[in-house]
Amino acid sequence: MTREQIPGLSINTATTRRQWTLPQAAENYARLGAAGIAPWRDQIAACGLAHAVRAIRDSGLAVTGVCRGGMFTATDKAGFEASHEENRRAIEEAHELGAACLVLVCGGLPGSSRDIDGARAMVADGIARLLPEATAAGVSLAIEPLHPMYAADRNCINTLDQALQLCGRIDPAPGAHALGVALDVYHVWWDPGLRSSIEGMDPRRLLAFHICDWRVPTRDVLVDRGLMGDGVIDLEDIARMVAAKGFAGLPEVEIFSDELWNRDPEDLVKQCLDRSLGVRRALGKGEPGKGMQ
Ligand code: ZN
Repeated sequence: MTREQIPGLSINTATTRRQWTLPQAAENYARLGAAGIAPWRDQIAACGLAHAVRAIRDSGLAVTGVCRGGMFTATDKAGFEASHEENRRAIEEAHELGAACLVLVCGGLPGSSRDIDGARAMVADGIARLLPEATAAGVSLAIEPLHPMYAADRNCINTLDQALQLCGRIDPAPGAHALGVALDVYHVWWDPGLRSSIEGMDPRRLLAFHICDWRVPTRDVLVDRGLMGDGVIDLEDIARMVAAKGFAGLPEVEIFSDELWNRDPEDLVKQCLDRSLGVRRALGKGEPGKGMQ
C-alpha cells in the first residue's frame, strides 16, 4: 500500500444477515464497491461450503475472516472434545475460503461454574491444541477479545492485553500462519490500556480490524451496535494506531443491529462504505512495514 491509497472495505455478513443470504451478500457487496467479505459459519452452512466458495470466488472479494470458531469452555471432557471437532471443521472452511483468519470467540463460564480462571485455562488448552492443525491448514487463528459484559456467557478473554499474553504463551514465535488477534473497536474502545497494548504488540499478531460504533445509550448489548459516526468511539484515532503497526488488511464493518437489519441493505452497504472513509483514510496513511521488522 502506498501512502496516498485508501484501502477498500470488507463487510461482515452479520451486518446484512436478515436481508441477504451469503451468496446474495457476496454478489451485492462486490457490486456496491466493497473489497472484502467475512462470512459467518451458519450462513456458510445454509448454502453449503462449495456454493459459498464459488459465490465468493466469483465476487472477487477478499475474505478477511470466518466467524467463528472458539467456544472452548465446556462442563466435561466430551464437551471439550466436541468443541475441538467443531473447530476443526471451522478451520477447514476457513482454508477452503482462503480466509485471512478464523476468528475465535473463546467461550464463557461453562454451565453454572463460577471459576473464571478455570475457564480461561480451558481456553488456553483449547487454542494450544488447535493451533498445530490450523498451522498445517495454512489458517491463522485470531483471538477476538470481547467486551467484559460478555465474560460470563460468550468469552472470558476480555482485553487486548489479555489476548496478546495468551498468544505469547501459546505461540511465542509467530510464523507465517500465526496465532493473533482480531481487534474489534466495539469490544476494546473503552480500555485504558488499549493504546499501550497496540503500541507494544508484534505487528504479526494483528490479523483483523473490525469497526462499528458504540451508541449512547446502548439499548441492547448484543444487537444495538451503531454505524460508524453514530456513537462515541474515536474510530480514526484507533485506525491511526492500527496503521502505525503496518496493518495491511482491509478494515471490516461488523454490525449487529435490530434497527439496521430492518433497513434496505443496499442503502446500508452504501452507508458502510461512506461512513468508513475516515477510518480507511487513516489506515491508508500508515507507513507500510513500519514496525514490521
Ligand atoms: Zn468482531
